Amino acid sequence: MRTPPGVSPSDFALAVAQFQAAVGPDWVFTSDEDLDLYKDAYSPFWGEPEEKIAYAAVAPQTVEEVQAVVRIANQYKVPLYPISTGKNLGYGGSAPVLSGSVVLDLKRMNRILEVNEKNAYALVEPGVSYFDLYRYIHERGLKVWIDCPDPGWGSVIGNAVDRGGGYTAAMFRNHFDAHCGMEVVLPTGDLLRTGMGAMPNAETWQMYKSGYGPWIDGLFSQSNFGVVTKMGIWLMPEPEAYLNGTVSVFGYDDLVPFIDILNQLENGQVFTGMPFLGSPVFSGIDPGDQMRPNNDPELAAILAAPGGPPKEALEAHSRKVGKGLWAAKLQFYGPEKVIRAQWEHCRERFSAIPGAVFEDGDLLRFPLAPDQLVNEHKVTFGIPNLSIFFIGARSETSPPGDGHIWFSPIIPRTAEAIFEAQRVFRDAADSLGLPMQPIALPSTYWQRAFIFIFGFPITHDIETNKKNRAAFRTLVKIAAEHGWGEYRTAPAYQDDIMDTYSFNDHALRRFHETVKDAVDPNGVISAGRYGIWPKHLRGTRA
Ligand SMILES: Cc1cc2nc3c(=O)[nH]c(=O)nc-3n(C[C@H](O)[C@H](O)[C@H](O)COP(=O)(O)OP(=O)(O)OC[C@H]3O[C@@H](n4cnc5c(N)ncnc54)[C@H](O)[C@@H]3O)c2cc1C
Repeated sequence: MRTPPGVSPSDFALAVAQFQAAVGPDWVFTSDEDLDLYKDAYSPFWGEPEEKIAYAAVAPQTVEEVQAVVRIANQYKVPLYPISTGKNLGYGGSAPVLSGSVVLDLKRMNRILEVNEKNAYALVEPGVSYFDLYRYIHERGLKVWIDCPDPGWGSVIGNAVDRGGGYTAAMFRNHFDAHCGMEVVLPTGDLLRTGMGAMPNAETWQMYKSGYGPWIDGLFSQSNFGVVTKMGIWLMPEPEAYLNGTVSVFGYDDLVPFIDILNQLENGQVFTGMPFLGSPVFSGIDPGDQMRPNNDPELAAILAAPGGPPKEALEAHSRKVGKGLWAAKLQFYGPEKVIRAQWEHCRERFSAIPGAVFEDGDLLRFPLAPDQLVNEHKVTFGIPNLSIFFIGARSETSPPGDGHIWFSPIIPRTAEAIFEAQRVFRDAADSLGLPMQPIALPSTYWQRAFIFIFGFPITHDIETNKKNRAAFRTLVKIAAEHGWGEYRTAPAYQDDIMDTYSFNDHALRRFHETVKDAVDPNGVISAGRYGIWPKHLRGTRA
């Protein structure tokens, strides 16, 4: 058996024996066959010595077992790497940041402790997947929806602590923002409850977020300050109906008033569904459409123009083929009368842009029949599924690949920022030899900022991966020079990205490290995650 960095073989053997005593021998894994399952299937280090690998894994079932494992880890200074369901593909999978760590696999802690229909929340353990929570709610006929990311096999807790996002109404799409109250095993093994949960017998743990005093929940997201063992999540009351409508405009510069109106309507909560942005002339506006671009040779010639597509040519082509150059699909949830009036109001507001064209979409009532769902993006209705792997990673137009890493910078929510980012990333892609959609549009998960999401290919060719890693790092720097930071990242790039959050001589990182030293003096939890290294490893940032 290999031993984690800095741990002697005899200490590691003792630690493993004590892990076995704490959780039962069946739930400690040390064989290569078992540990291979904890590799990152989308690793940019595939086949290289830097590949992140676990030297053991331990799967407790109770909070007390988690505490025992953490205490043993402290005794022998064994690095642990907690995961919930470990499906973080594109952002690191289930592999530890520090090779040789012991993965603390929380999948077996899969109890749904409460679903409160009246007050629309759930309290879950880390191993509860979106499928589990949906099934629980569905089987009991409860009138609440979950909000889930595209892949439904991930976990409510793992996704939220990594600050992931979903697709229903705005106040539920940001999963960390939608959480309410946590239970955390601290790196010393002590147990903490946040928010109202700090009060014994609290009656409002999942109803009021901040509790009393500094609100510390953020310290347990994208961090390594503890192991989250319970979390509350706010659910969406099932709406009476759903409606969508599409607005298209044909002028290149129309995007400026278009985004301004979109923002005013969204910030004023005239619509709360996710407003998909797209370019119908180029592809479409539904998820995945950008991966299926139009093959029109005339359009291809315009897009291939040196220095980027000329806007007059794009406009002329868009008018000729009768497809908008820019469009948004607005989505509404609520009582039929209300959402029809909201859509009507949106139409009035967008009519200020000359030539704007409107298309009424479907009005749906719930529950939906299976045949109504066939062509729908199911997560819009809080229904977990795995069809994204068909849309994005395996289809007629996209043969099976070896995965991808997400490059996902946050940019301002203005048309000017979109134009600038398109230009900057197009030029960067040209000079780095990367494929890039010529008029890529950002995603709208979050209300106040855009997020560009580019899937950076992973291959099983080491030289190509090396080249792509260098290109990724260059893109991170280029984005930072423009004031655009990544919202989340895989371990391979976490230090590069933390380096860009450098205001006042890296005051943020220095603060993280001060907290790390205070709460995790032995540095046993997720060493290096999000660029926070324990003291003894700070000289060796990966
Ligand atoms: C094709 C495709 C589409 C995707 N679409 C989306 C999407 O729409 N939205 C989205 O958000 N993501 C998306 N992802 C990324 C990813 O698959 C999901 O975010 C997934 O839910 C994360 O995996 P998980 O829930 O199993 O979390 P985990 O892998 O269990 O956890 C994620 C990270 O959080 C930390 N962590 C987890 N649990 C704990 C804990 N209990 N205590 C302390 N720290 C913990 C660890 O650092 C871990 O690495 C997509 C990925 C792919 C490949």
